[in-house]
Amino acid sequence: MDGARPEVSVTEVLCCRHCGKALEHTFVDLGMSPLCESFLTTAQLGEPETYYPLHVRVCDACWLVQLPEFVSPARIFTEYAYFSSYSTSWVAHAKRYCETIKARLGLGAESFIVELGSNDGYLLQHFLELGQHVLGIEPAANVAKTARARGIPTLTAFFGTETARQVISEHGRADLIVANNVLAQVPQLNDFVAGMACLLGPEGVATIEVPHIERLIVENQFDTIYHEHFSYFSLVTVKRIAATTGLMPIDVEVLPTHGGSLRIYLAHDNSSHPISPRVGAMLAREGEARLETLSAYADFADRVQRTKRDLLAVLIAAKEKGKRICGYGAPGKGNTLLNYCGVGTDFLDFTVDRNPYKQGRYTPGMHIPIKHVDAIDAAKPDYILILPWNLKQEVVTQMSHIGTWGGKFIVPIPEVAVIDPREPVRNGDTATLDEAMHSA
Ligand SMILES: [Zn+2]
Repeated sequence: MDGARPEVSVTEVLCCRHCGKALEHTFVDLGMSPLCESFLTTAQLGEPETYYPLHVRVCDACWLVQLPEFVSPARIFTEYAYFSSYSTSWVAHAKRYCETIKARLGLGAESFIVELGSNDGYLLQHFLELGQHVLGIEPAANVAKTARARGIPTLTAFFGTETARQVISEHGRADLIVANNVLAQVPQLNDFVAGMACLLGPEGVATIEVPHIERLIVENQFDTIYHEHFSYFSLVTVKRIAATTGLMPIDVEVLPTHGGSLRIYLAHDNSSHPISPRVGAMLAREGEARLETLSAYADFADRVQRTKRDLLAVLIAAKEKGKRICGYGAPGKGNTLLNYCGVGTDFLDFTVDRNPYKQGRYTPGMHIPIKHVDAIDAAKPDYILILPWNLKQEVVTQMSHIGTWGGKFIVPIPEVAVIDPREPVRNGDTATLDEAMHSA
C-alpha cells in the first residue's frame, strides 16, 4: 500500500476528533515527551516528570492530522509560559494584521471584535487604540490577567458553543472573530468551530491562522509537533470542518509565520461575501500535493529519522573535537527536537532565551539550563544550535559577532546545516551536511 503503517490496537481504538472514523495510519511517531512548555525550576529537577506519547496519526476519511488528547487543555493552558509580547516579530505581525483587517472589513467604532486565545492582549491592543469594542477569550489565567492589566477586557474561559452563547447574551454577535494559532490547540475541535459559527454575526468574518500541513511536510518541520498542538491543518480539511457548521472559506492567504501558515477567512455560507479565487487556487495546490491521499503522508517519518541521525552526527563530531556547544532559544518546538533526538547537557552546556520567565529554569525532559542571552558572550561557545529555526535570519543577524571568536551556528531544520557568520551567505542558504560534518 502507499500509506503509512496501519495500526489499531485491540484494546484501544483511537478515533478522529472531527469525523469519528478510527485512526489507522501513523504520520510520525516521535516517542515519549514531556509537555513542551513545562519548564522546570531547580527544585523540580529531582522530581519525576510525566512523559506522553507524541504519536501523530492521519485520518483517511477527512485527512485531519492529529494527536490524541492525552493531556487535557486545562492541564496545559491553565498556567502558560508563553507570553506573545516577548516576540517582537510576532507583535509586528499582529499589528499589520489589525491594520489590514480593519481596512478590509471597514470596521468602525460600533464594531465588536472577539479574539479566541487572546494571550496577553498583544493583538487586541491594536484595536483598542482604534477605539473599538473588543473582548479577549483566554483560558490561561496568568496570561489573561496580564491582558486585563493593560486594559483589554478578557474572559478567562475555554471557547466553545457554551462560551459563545454567554458572550452573545452580554455583547451580541461579533463582526470579527480572530482565531490566530489557536485552532491547533483545541481538542474539542467541532464544538470550537460550532461556537465560532454561533458567535459570528450574519455578515461577520472570522479569520483563523494555522500552520499549513503542506509546509510541515515539505520542510520537515517535525518539531512543530507537540502535545499542545492537537491538530495539523490543510485548507481542504478546514473547509470540510467549517462546512459542518454552515461556515465556508471566502479567502486564504499564505503567511511566513511558524514556517508557513494559512490565514483563512470564514463567513456564513449564506452571507453576501464573494469568494476569492485564491481559495480555489489553494485547494488545487493541495490537490497536486495529494493531501487527500495517504501517499502525501507516507514517507515523512523516514525523513524525520534521517534528520535525527544527521543532527546527532554533527553534534557528536563537534564534541569529539572538544568543541563547546550551546543553544539559542527555548521555544516549545525546541523541546520536541531535543527530546526526540536525545540532546541533553551531554551536548549543550546551556541555552538562552529572551523570556525572563524561562531564564533560570530548565528545559523539560532534557534539563538544559536556560540563561540570559548575555551568557553566550561570557561563554564564547564554538557552536550555537538555533532552536527557533523559523527566526534563523533574525538570530544570525543579532548574534553575528560570535564570528569574532570563531563561533558558528547549527540549524537543525529543514536539514542540518552549519552557518559561519564570517562567510558570505550563499543564496541565503547554508552549508550542506557534508560540509557541516567536515567543519565540525
Ligand atoms: Zn476524520
